[in-house]
Amino acid sequence: MEKAEEEKIVIVGGGICGLATALALHRKEIGSIVLERSEELRATGAAIIVQPNGWRALDQLGIASQLRQTALTIQSGQYFTVKDGKHKDLPLGDAGEVRCLRRTDLIKTLAANLPLNTIHLKTKVVSIKLDPFTSYPILQLHDGSVLVAKVVVGCDGVNSTIANILGLNSTSIFTTCVARGFTNYEAGHKFGSAFLVFSKDDVQLGLMPVTDKLVYWFVTRKLTSQDSMVSKYHKLIKKTTVEAIRGFPNHIMEMVKNSDEDSLHLTELRYRAPWDLLRTNFRKGTVTVAGDAMHATGPFLAQGGSASLEDAVVLARCLSQNMHIDIDPRGRKRRKMLMLKAAAALDQYARERKMRVFWLSLETFVIGTMLDSSSTLLKSLCIIALIILFRDKIAHTRYDCGHL
Ligand SMILES: Cc1cc2nc3c(=O)[nH]c(=O)nc-3n(C[C@H](O)[C@H](O)[C@H](O)COP(=O)(O)OP(=O)(O)OC[C@H]3O[C@@H](n4cnc5c(N)ncnc54)[C@H](O)[C@@H]3O)c2cc1C
Repeated sequence: MEKAEEEKIVIVGGGICGLATALALHRKEIGSIVLERSEELRATGAAIIVQPNGWRALDQLGIASQLRQTALTIQSGQYFTVKDGKHKDLPLGDAGEVRCLRRTDLIKTLAANLPLNTIHLKTKVVSIKLDPFTSYPILQLHDGSVLVAKVVVGCDGVNSTIANILGLNSTSIFTTCVARGFTNYEAGHKFGSAFLVFSKDDVQLGLMPVTDKLVYWFVTRKLTSQDSMVSKYHKLIKKTTVEAIRGFPNHIMEMVKNSDEDSLHLTELRYRAPWDLLRTNFRKGTVTVAGDAMHATGPFLAQGGSASLEDAVVLARCLSQNMHIDIDPRGRKRRKMLMLKAAAALDQYARERKMRVFWLSLETFVIGTMLDSSSTLLKSLCIIALIILFRDKIAHTRYDCGHL
């Protein structure tokens, strides 16, 4: 790979956040490149629940209407306790649109709306440092080449290399894990457009229809010492998941038994501690992070992806507001990023995102601690904290990241 032009914004990681950031910048007529270490764009994890705040961000990115064609709207939610058959309504929907997207649909739509040659596959960043004279970020790539950028945005996920330069600690791990997959009902399923959750002891199963034939489901359970091996084999993921939900209603067990094996994933859950988010300023030179690299959270609120889309919109807005526009002799607009302005833009972005992601991170941390803990006292304290701090369970979905 050649040296990047000075104006180039380099995004490390081609997941939801990296692609959304490149698209948000493109909508503001700002070029960027995305470096992705994998051979192809990955859509690990079957599906993603997108709540109203995520749809607002997708609207800003200009791809919401395309994606709406791919998944039905979820109208209601119900929570069932398996042992006593009791059920209650889940607070869903009154704050707006909820849909469950196939991850491949989201990733492909983001990528398809980018200019050609934006995404560079098989390009792994191994380290980053700042040039001692110019302060430009210098990226060391796996093939020995070096890339100099004006701005680097680390969207490289829970084990981010870019986060290291910002002094962020490594992410931690919950003792809860999640198995996820799709079940296809040739003749149509009978779940309508409802989000259902079934709970028994420390196992929870959630399901959400994608279309009238396709259902996404996830099972949250305790991590075991076997799970790093289990996660490598689809058959074992299915077997252990069916064992975990023994005693659940028959049609739910059948759903998991009949799932599409290729769609199955078992994932350990990593998170960045909420206090890490408070003490970091998320910028060094002209390097910042976004998405899970910034705010990895447990998936208990189904908000990580939507928050990553919000990051993309806010970051592109801040950068574009701080760009200098020149008109060249042929009358074409040329956007220039001055170093000082870039730093100011990244500070503005970090300020805007910090408390938003802190509260998301804190709520998921408390839920995760409650699920992880075997102490009744600690579980009770978590419940009290949730009641006091997070009484409104869908408050996060009302967040509006604003215009691009
Ligand atoms: C079980 C589970 C369920 C979830 N469910 C939901 C949900 O329903 N709704 C929701 O909103 N969120 C959900 N999330 C969270 C959501 O999946 C993440 O927040 C989102 O995928 C983060 O996207 P990202 O682009 O930041 O990171 P990733 O998707 O992890 O992408 C990072 C990319 O960077 C690449 N990369 C890493 N290192 C390098 C490197 N050194 N050089 C180049 N490339 C690199 C990786 O290959 C990868 O493609 C869930 C998460 C989990 C674990």
